[in-house]
Amino acid sequence: MLQNDCIFCKIINQEIQADIVLENSDYIVIQDIHPKAPTHLLIIPKTHSDGLHDFNTTPAAALLLLDTIKTLNSRLENPSFKIQINNGTAAGQEVFHLHIHFTSSSKLKST
Ligand code: AMP
Repeated sequence: MLQNDCIFCKIINQEIQADIVLENSDYIVIQDIHPKAPTHLLIIPKTHSDGLHDFNTTPAAALLLLDTIKTLNSRLENPSFKIQINNGTAAGQEVFHLHIHFTSSSKLKST
């Protein structure tokens, strides 16, 4: 389910342009518009939830998330990464559509 007033839903719906790095059945991965590391990606579930606290997933989709993270790591010049979820205003969340920050001091390999 997508929400009309959600910027990440608009990206998923191709109403707003984003630099897409990877896409599969359940997730879209985009470049963060204000990168805080040489690689700063956002892994965004294609269905809307405000945060991890209300994310309804399936075992298959949860496994695909881990697979997506491993795939991104394999695309780094020097595989090594951090992941972070800001869940809630007090944790610094600004966009209320669940997303996982994937950052690395390494750049993505050129394709
Ligand atoms: P958070 O504080 O966890 O909600 O982080 C939201 C992130 O989304 C920030 O790092 C923003 O730079 C990023 N962001 C916001 N709008 C866009 C956009 N249109 N395209 C890519 N990244 C965005």
